[in-house]
Amino acid sequence: MFLPQEIIRKKRDGGILSAEEIQFFVGGITTKSITEGQIAALAMAVYFNDMTMDERVAFTLAMRDSGEVLDWRSLDLPGPVVDKHSTGGVGDVVSLLLGPMIAACGGFVPMISGRGLGHTGGTLDKFDSIPGYSTVPDNALFRRVVKEVGVAIIGQTASLAPSDKIFYGVRDVTATVESVAMITGSILSKKLSAGLDALVMDVKTGTGAFMPTYEKSVELAESIVQVGNGAGMTTSAILTDMNESLAPYAGNAVEVRGAIDYLTGKSRPARLHEVTMALCAEMLVLGKLAATADEARAKLQASLDSGEAAERFARMVTALGGPADLMDNPDKYLERSPVIVPAPALVSGYAATTNCREIGLAVVSLGGGRRRAADPIDFAVGLTGLAGLGDKIEAGQPLAMVHARTQEAAEQAIREIQAAYQISETAPAANPVVYRTIRP
Ligand code: URA
Repeated sequence: MFLPQEIIRKKRDGGILSAEEIQFFVGGITTKSITEGQIAALAMAVYFNDMTMDERVAFTLAMRDSGEVLDWRSLDLPGPVVDKHSTGGVGDVVSLLLGPMIAACGGFVPMISGRGLGHTGGTLDKFDSIPGYSTVPDNALFRRVVKEVGVAIIGQTASLAPSDKIFYGVRDVTATVESVAMITGSILSKKLSAGLDALVMDVKTGTGAFMPTYEKSVELAESIVQVGNGAGMTTSAILTDMNESLAPYAGNAVEVRGAIDYLTGKSRPARLHEVTMALCAEMLVLGKLAATADEARAKLQASLDSGEAAERFARMVTALGGPADLMDNPDKYLERSPVIVPAPALVSGYAATTNCREIGLAVVSLGGGRRRAADPIDFAVGLTGLAGLGDKIEAGQPLAMVHARTQEAAEQAIREIQAAYQISETAPAANPVVYRTIRP
């Protein structure tokens, strides 16, 4: 029998908690035998005194076990259950491409996605912009779509890792979110509860990333890889660039349009393609669907060239209640903004840097994200044709096209976009798209 205050005291004084102490504390969060004040105190103690890798594994597993853990074995799936998770970005439409591509290559992807957070977009919000598509199917439908189509992308359910939801809520209002140990546990408990065989984590770095520095991004990636594998799930992480929007568009309906254009071959922006291929290839290798990254890339390219990946996306949309002809007639279903205007560059030169966070916040201000949790999303708004770093631009040419609900909102976004770009006289050195891969 433990006392919560003694567990907090031990961590406060720099001690190492046993797996039993961690299980007792985390288990008490959902049964309410631990108070919010005690959660806040432990969070602050962990923030200052950190957790060893063993503590992080115990913390992650205890949060996983606070709710339902999905089990795919009874479906006898003829391939591995794999997923990708990202720390969040701007114009990061990878999930919409990757899920169908992996399914087309023989993997099974039960992707439980989140809403937009802060300046970053959320995969869940993007799917909510497709009329009829249900991001909250019942468990039987979710399982059937995963089995029959190979991919189902849905929203978080209340039954998975409920203690994380409570713990995260407390961290959010007690200045304790920025702890690699607790971020690791929060992300991985949710992924472990999805019953995955393997996970690839996309850890972003740059001005639009959740982690503030390259070093912190590496630290998080290494922690996730160690703890994920320590908890029994094959896990790798790839560090990717978020110094500019990943796709040249950001928003909800505009990203779904972009995903359809990518899958059907109409347009495959280079940076988006490179990050998607790198993450997918790692997933195929981890899932033993390819022996090498080169073999994986060849399979993935074939899934795009043959139209099989596009077909999987279409089947997933239909199976979850969306329109059967979305791929052929996206304009019939995806809302468009009434006001679409250019954000002109104020001077001539090269796009040298962007404050990518500000670009994401411009989408939020347009109504494409939330200021408060209960805010509705305007699916139509966003940005397209975003200038890439290194692009040569003449004064008056667009840095982006702004899709807004009103002229006033558009004017505000234009000012924000102009402020987010720095234009220089000389071309900047290009940022890598993929920095490094971290494996156990
Ligand atoms: N995302 C999560 O799910 N949890 C965190 O702690 C941070 C980001």
